[in-house]
Amino acid sequence: MIRLNENYLKLQSSYLFSDIDKRVAAFKREHPDREIIKLGIGDVTRALPKACIEAFHKAVDEMASDATFRGYGPEQGYDFLREKVAEYDFRRRGAEVDADEVFISDGAKCDTGNFQELFADDITIAVPDPVYPVYVDTNVMAGRTGNFSNGRYQGFVYLDCTRENGFVPGVPDAHVDCIYLCYPNNPTGAVATKAQLRQWVDYARQEKALILFDAAYAAFVCDESLPQSIYEIEGAREVAVEFRSYSKTAGFTGTRCAYTVVPKNCLAYDSGGAAYPLHRFWNRRHTTKFNGVSYPVQRAAEAIYLGDGPRQLREITDYYMANAAMIRGRMTKLGYVCTGGSNAPYLWIDAKTDSWNFFDLLLQKAGVVCTPGAGFGKCGEGYVRISAFNNPTRVSLALDRITKVLGG
Ligand SMILES: *Cc1c(COP(=O)(O)O)cnc(C)c1O
Repeated sequence: MIRLNENYLKLQSSYLFSDIDKRVAAFKREHPDREIIKLGIGDVTRALPKACIEAFHKAVDEMASDATFRGYGPEQGYDFLREKVAEYDFRRRGAEVDADEVFISDGAKCDTGNFQELFADDITIAVPDPVYPVYVDTNVMAGRTGNFSNGRYQGFVYLDCTRENGFVPGVPDAHVDCIYLCYPNNPTGAVATKAQLRQWVDYARQEKALILFDAAYAAFVCDESLPQSIYEIEGAREVAVEFRSYSKTAGFTGTRCAYTVVPKNCLAYDSGGAAYPLHRFWNRRHTTKFNGVSYPVQRAAEAIYLGDGPRQLREITDYYMANAAMIRGRMTKLGYVCTGGSNAPYLWIDAKTDSWNFFDLLLQKAGVVCTPGAGFGKCGEGYVRISAFNNPTRVSLALDRITKVLGG
C-alpha cells in the first residue's frame, strides 16, 4: 500500500489569491464596463534589461554550434557568475563572501523551501507573522509542526510583526534553533537596521542557532545606512545563510535565476554537539538533487554586473520605487499609516477596518485590487499590501479613484 506523507494533510489551502480572483471575476460580471487596476501583484511588469537580453541571445547562439555548445554545467553554477556575485553583491559592500560559497539556483522559492532538509525534524523554528508562506509550509510538509488551530500551526514560534515593533520583531525570550527573516520584507515592506540584525546575529551565536535570511528584495534598498546583506553584520558568517534572487530585482520571475550563500564557517551540530560546516551538506544536497541553471540564463544574469547592466537595473528599480513613493505619499495624505515603499516595492497599509472589508471597498467603489493582509498570517489582519509593480499611469489613475472613495 502506497501511504501518504500525512503532514500534507495538515496544510491549509491558500485561498488568498483564488479568493481575490473570485471576487474580481464576480465584480467584472456585474460591471462589465468598469476597468480594473491591479495593485496586488507580486510579479514584475517590466521587461528584462537590454544587457541581459543581449547576453541571453549570444549564449543561445553559442549553443547552436558544436564548438561552443555547453552540456551539463557545474551544479553550483558557472564560476563566471559565482565570482561576480561574490565581488559585486558582497565584497564591494564590505561583506566577506567567496565565490565557492555561492550556489546558483533556479529560484529563492526553491532554496528557502529546500534548505530545511538539512536539519533534524525536532528543531524549534521561528517564523515571522505575516510571512512569505514557503517558510511555513515546507516545514509543515517535513513534519516539524503539529496541527493548524486558531490561525497558526502548533510547534512554531511566531514572531509578531506589529505597528508597535515597526514590523521588525526582536529576538524571542525562549530558545529557538532556526529563524527565518526576510528584509526588505514581503509583505510589509519593512527593512531591518544594522542594529536590529546585529541583535539577531548575537542571539543566534549565543543559542547556536541558524538564521535563514531571505534578501530577495535587497536591490530595492536605497538608503545606504541600511544593510542589504546579513553579512554586513560582524559574526554573521557563522550563523546565517542568505538567499537572493534576480526575480524581482532584474525581472527574472519567468526566466529563473537566484542564488544561496552558505559561508564555509557556518555551522550546524549533531546530537552529540559536534560541529559540521553546513556548506558541505548543502553542496551535497544541491549536487544530488539539482542539475544547474541553464547556461544562457546564467549569462543573462552575469550581464547585470557588466558594462551598462548596473545602470539599466537601477533604472528599473527606480521606476518601481517612484510608484511606491507616489502610493506612499497619497495614502499618507489620505490619513492612512503606511510602512514600506521607501526601500521595498511593497506598502503595508493600516486599513482601519478588517482586511477583506477594505479589499471589497476598493474593488467595489474604486475598481482597484489590493492584497488583504490577513492572507499572510494572523498579524496581517487589519492591513492590506499594495505593490509597486505596475506602470506609473495606472498607479496614478488608481490613486485618483482611491482618493475619490476614501477622501471623504
Ligand atoms: C518573490 C520572492 C522570492 C523569489 O522567488 P524566486 O523563486 O526566486 O522567484 C523569494 N522570497 C520572497 C519573500 C519573495 O517575495
